[in-house]
Amino acid sequence: MKFGGSLLNNEIKVSNVTNIIKSYFTSGNELIVIISALNGVTDKILNLCNDIKKINKKIINEFILDLELIHVNVIEKIIKLENKKEILQIIYNLLNEFKEILVGISLLGEMTPKSRDYLVSFGERLSTPIISFILKDTGLKSVFFNGKEVGILTDSNYGDAKPLMDTTKFRVRHKLEPLLKEKYIPVITGFIASDQNGNITTIGRGGSDYSATIIAASIDANEVWLWSDVDGLMTADPKIVQDAITIPELSFSEALELSMFGPKYMHPRALEPVMDSNIIVRIRNAKNLKNNGTAIIQNPLNSKIVKSITAIKNIALIDVSGGGLIGYPGTAAKIFESLARNQVNIIMISQTPSESSISLIVKKIDLDKAITTLELNFLGKLIKRIDVNDKVAIIAVVGSGMRGIKGVAGRTFSAVAKKDINVIMIAQGSSELNLAFVIDEKNCEEAVKVLHKEFITK
Ligand code: ASP
Ligand code: MG
Repeated sequence: MKFGGSLLNNEIKVSNVTNIIKSYFTSGNELIVIISALNGVTDKILNLCNDIKKINKKIINEFILDLELIHVNVIEKIIKLENKKEILQIIYNLLNEFKEILVGISLLGEMTPKSRDYLVSFGERLSTPIISFILKDTGLKSVFFNGKEVGILTDSNYGDAKPLMDTTKFRVRHKLEPLLKEKYIPVITGFIASDQNGNITTIGRGGSDYSATIIAASIDANEVWLWSDVDGLMTADPKIVQDAITIPELSFSEALELSMFGPKYMHPRALEPVMDSNIIVRIRNAKNLKNNGTAIIQNPLNSKIVKSITAIKNIALIDVSGGGLIGYPGTAAKIFESLARNQVNIIMISQTPSESSISLIVKKIDLDKAITTLELNFLGKLIKRIDVNDKVAIIAVVGSGMRGIKGVAGRTFSAVAKKDINVIMIAQGSSELNLAFVIDEKNCEEAVKVLHKEFITK
């Protein structure tokens, strides 16, 4: 079970989390718990890292004091006297270590990706022992580890490291299986691991979900439960569509299409470690236990052709055109390669068979970088024109039931046409899992509503 930061920001919420753990453990399950940093702590640390040139002793002291208050407050309010001293000592030791490193780095005035990972790891390293101690406090046996200690090994791509699964599986199993046999509840930091040189790495924002599936795959768990404060993956964003509902069951590939854009954000690679296994992934709401959430499984019932309608905002469309693109193999490769080299992630692509233009969708935050790259490298050569529209949104119609079914595109585009909405760009992979199209941002909500009605509630 993984518990997200949104469930961990005061003693009441933390008690709710430990009550859930306790109730599932005492009903006869073996449990491993993965914990995120307390709410907002990761962001706080990263903001400080970004300001490293401006920080001084005073700012560092205030920062550490703030973290002390956040964590000690939970301990003071929940943990019984006999255990309190030990956990407080653990927290103060971590805070001291944190402070010393911050002072050192601030003197250097230089933040490397390696240092940043080390610093940001304190979020989870501070929250995890507290949960373990609360469990101990209620009479359960618990031990805590950070991701490095438990054996998660990654490459050295700091900030977005990838697990080396074979070694990881071997080490994690070795570490955890004996503890489970002895009825311990291991509590493990999400998000952090280590590379082959023993340096702390992190596996990408929202990485605790990923840690959970890595560990589940390692010990061949029956299920992974990702607890947060949303009911599950939904048929649409409930802020847009009032009668949107939780999707009870869906496949891994469908979940992958939804998890990055819906209200339950998931790390893009979080499903990877368990995708080919029979491990069930459940998304549950710790604030609404009545809802069974979403189960991501190998062979879901395909009751609906379309499972969900999502809108993706904060994106921009770039259209590059020019005769230089026509009939020369490798032109698209050149464009994509240079964008990739400049860290621009492309989220949707479309090209007509005449090859006279290529349309790309990038995130708005990458737009400037993308335009500069294209202008410097290709404008006036391969490319004659670059047109940009940053007032657009992607609408994605997702569901594996669309595969081989005729008329889904027809129904989709007639429904939006009836609302007088113009379609600017279209893409569908041949897996027919996701039909995505681009419209003017201002029509976004209306399009989601009309398609939800067409495919889900009708
Ligand atoms: N604390 C990390 C983050 O905020 C990991 C996580 O919450 O899953 O990204
Ligand atoms: Mg988080």
